Amino acid sequence: MALNQYCTPSHCHHCDTPMDPLLGGHALCDYCENLCTPEPTTIYEKSYAVHALFEFSGAIQTLMHHLKFDCNPAVVKQLLPDSLAIPTADIVIPVPSHLSRIRQRGFDHVERLFKHRYGHRYYPCVQRVKKTPSLYNQPAEKRKKILANAFQWNPQYTHNCNNQSLLIVDDIYTSGSTINAMIQCINHHCKPKAIAVFALCRKM
Ligand SMILES: [Zn+2]
Repeated sequence: MALNQYCTPSHCHHCDTPMDPLLGGHALCDYCENLCTPEPTTIYEKSYAVHALFEFSGAIQTLMHHLKFDCNPAVVKQLLPDSLAIPTADIVIPVPSHLSRIRQRGFDHVERLFKHRYGHRYYPCVQRVKKTPSLYNQPAEKRKKILANAFQWNPQYTHNCNNQSLLIVDDIYTSGSTINAMIQCINHHCKPKAIAVFALCRKM
């Protein structure tokens, strides 16, 4: 694949329609793009609210695959345009991948999505210390067991998060098991004022 193809896809990532590379920087053709207008929704879980932009289906599902596979800038821009207003908080904590996964991919897709949007609020203070298998199709109890002690506060991060509003950010929100495990880790370390979640997609 030529370098310019990597930077500027010349085919729609979803339907493979050829696109004018001179128009540049688009991951989807106009037709697919029109089907991917963000539809922000909020899901209320027991102890937090989840804000999500998209359903995990169609062209969005294709883009989410690309996000983890090559994370090209056009995909990031399509999923989270700079012009789109997004939820914020005092401190924004990304759901971490295990270091071995980041090395394998060569990038941290959650960081690529959110770091530039949140600037100094972006605070990757939680690390994934256990390499966990896919939680897909696992029953709730099994998920909980897999995620036990998967997260740890990184001692390098010393900012006092007590009484601050926190926003946990991730690419996909599914059952909430990962978020619950992260919240457990956060609450062990500090007493935030409130915790909410922002995910690009919801996959129920
Ligand atoms: Zn298309």
